[in-house]
Amino acid sequence: MSLKAKIKAGAESLGFVAIGFTSPEPVPGIQRFRAWVNKNHHAGMTYLASQRSLDMRSDPRRLLPSCQTVISLLSTYPASGDLRSDNVPGQETGAIAAYALVPDYHDVLKQRLAKLSELITELAGNDIEMYACVDSAPILEKSYAQKAGLGWIGRNSLLLHPDYGSWTHLAELLVSLELEPDRVFERDGCGDCQLCVRACPTGAILPERTIDARRCLSYLTIENRGPIPIEFRMAMGKRVFGCDQCQSVCPVNKRAHVQFQEKVIEKFPDLVESFGLSEEKFKLKYRHTPVWRAKYTGFRRNVAIAMGNSGKKDFIPLLEKSSLTEHDPIVADAIAWALGELSS
Ligand code: SF4
Ligand code: SF4
Repeated sequence: MSLKAKIKAGAESLGFVAIGFTSPEPVPGIQRFRAWVNKNHHAGMTYLASQRSLDMRSDPRRLLPSCQTVISLLSTYPASGDLRSDNVPGQETGAIAAYALVPDYHDVLKQRLAKLSELITELAGNDIEMYACVDSAPILEKSYAQKAGLGWIGRNSLLLHPDYGSWTHLAELLVSLELEPDRVFERDGCGDCQLCVRACPTGAILPERTIDARRCLSYLTIENRGPIPIEFRMAMGKRVFGCDQCQSVCPVNKRAHVQFQEKVIEKFPDLVESFGLSEEKFKLKYRHTPVWRAKYTGFRRNVAIAMGNSGKKDFIPLLEKSSLTEHDPIVADAIAWALGELSS
């Protein structure tokens, strides 16, 4: 078995479902990324637009100067079909995006990459240099995944693998080993499909296969630290963390293979209970899940807006009472909006 085949087999045994190899040469995606930040489509994620971010993303050898191969690795996040929809049963509950229902992928993937690095050291020697990237590292991971043959970048801007769709997380291991590159994935599997574009509740999907984060409910409910702009509050519906809409309508995802994994939080949390969580209880419940990323303020802001969108007038007394004591201006603003919606 070749070294490359052994690395691939090792990565599969760690739980990665698809593995591709490519060179670190710059990819055309950098132009698209630069154009995206130049138009301020990155919204409040200013770290993406810094000169350092642009420089690092232009070539993975800025992360590991000795890099000769980028190993691109795909893992799926499970949960069955009904857990991958934003359709909320009943008026009392909100919806959390599917990826957040299982343990935080940053922790899981970092552990897997550490084990894969150990294996590569065993196979190829101690002098091999490696750099592990999980999501937050400045690398154009979707472009490198495409170049490594793992799939194409869909109209909703996500990497689509022909078998696993976009219910996936990407990770990369940069290595100072020269390994034979895989073939670039050249087919555009989207064809003339426009389902995600039409289904997006806020019109956030742009023609160049990027997302205007300023309009995207995933950004607005997770990363955004300010109020949700009024024009998008109704479109949020009952989403209290993230948005799965452009993925759940995608035909590639509908036929994608599903791997089962135990959920660690519920998909449809009770809104009253969520709104009443103390900061300590929020921490206990969500600290080791992606929901933590929204922070206490962001989560309660989202829950208040979901209550406003629920049509459930029974929420009015609770919201009125909270409005008298709420100290957080962002949550107070969301409560006032919700009361306005429910009272009209
Ligand atoms: S995550 Fe939701 S809001 Fe964002 S682009 Fe997809 S459908 Fe639109
Ligand atoms: S919904 Fe259609 S256009 Fe959008 S990513 Fe899926 S296949 Fe591509």
